[in-house]
Amino acid sequence: MKKKEVNSSRMPVYRDAGFELYDSKTTADAFRKETENTRVPEMYIYSRYRNPTVVSAEEEIIKLEGCEWALLTQSGMSAVDTALSVFQNGKAPRPWLFFSEIYGGTISLIESVLKSRRGLDIRYFMPDNGVYDLEKFEKVISDLKPEIIYIESISNPMLIVAAVDDIIKISKKYGTRIIIDNTFGTPWLYKPLNDGADLVIHSVTKYFSGHGNLTAGVICGNDIKIMQSAIEYRKFVGHLLSPDDAYRLQTQIQTFELRFSRQCSNAYNLASYLARVPIVKEVWYPGLKSHPTHLIAKKLFRNKGFGGMITFNFEGKNDNEKRSRRDQFISHVSEKIMLIPTLGDPHTILMPVEAVWGAKYPEPGMIRLSVGFEEYQELESTITIAMEKIQG
Ligand code: PLP
Repeated sequence: MKKKEVNSSRMPVYRDAGFELYDSKTTADAFRKETENTRVPEMYIYSRYRNPTVVSAEEEIIKLEGCEWALLTQSGMSAVDTALSVFQNGKAPRPWLFFSEIYGGTISLIESVLKSRRGLDIRYFMPDNGVYDLEKFEKVISDLKPEIIYIESISNPMLIVAAVDDIIKISKKYGTRIIIDNTFGTPWLYKPLNDGADLVIHSVTKYFSGHGNLTAGVICGNDIKIMQSAIEYRKFVGHLLSPDDAYRLQTQIQTFELRFSRQCSNAYNLASYLARVPIVKEVWYPGLKSHPTHLIAKKLFRNKGFGGMITFNFEGKNDNEKRSRRDQFISHVSEKIMLIPTLGDPHTILMPVEAVWGAKYPEPGMIRLSVGFEEYQELESTITIAMEKIQG
């Protein structure tokens, strides 16, 4: 049996590797139009180039980001690779400036691929006392005149909120391209493209898909020339998302705002609660006044929320006691809060910071929580019981 249209309200999964092009003229037209600006091609050619189910999921992201185009990839890392590769043109470029507090996988890509293999001149901009200093940033950018700057809106695991709106304004004065990884911020809190960022990327694995069952990434923008270059790059290296994953994403993303708004309110309540627990020494959450970037977060996110991630730290006489409290906590909550090294899942999950980042953050009692959208009281009572057992 060949194709048959049915009255489905959804885009089905098109698993076709290649699409029927009928005759030479249609084939020639389809290939010519492939490099034109059309976001939704009339004729599909081959599923490494573009695929209707993937385009349909991209349309959902375009609505959320309020942007001109979005291109889905097989992982957040392939979105990062695509975003960075469209600006590489083989000429000896000016330096590329990366804010230092970015995802470890991105740092590995920068160091092992951009620097070691492709020979780019890479620089890092560091925060001072947990805040990116804008005056210092302007001085660095006016001296370096970098070709690209790259930031995460909320960093991991210290949850430093970058004043992305001001950073974009300053960068524009020096003709720098700006790429923002907005995985932790999401468009619900902030849309960097509205302030003039050139590209926004997300690990879709996290809040957009939101169920811990899908690995994907996306690159979003408004500039059609960049889109064409990104479509080509994605096709050359085979980064396109699979139609099955795109189908699940187009369904799961429908509840993104419901889920994320609840994750933000649960995280706000939980951070405020943790700050009152006697054996907790510090809580890093941008919604708390004690966080060094609280005021930046309030302004950037217009008081809508502060994200779904919290990092906290156990009090202790020495490092061994702090580690012991951390491990007891992990064990006491493990029925309800699992140790899973990802974020954005429906349920709250955790990671011991030292086990992942080593000595980078010298406090061994640190735990990172990705707060879920479960019922808040249940979450707080799981943690209260664990804290009471640890205190003895
Ligand atoms: N960007 C950020 C901020 C991340 O946290 C991650 C992964 O944790 C990535 C990018 C990479 O995404 P993925 O794991 O989907 O490749």
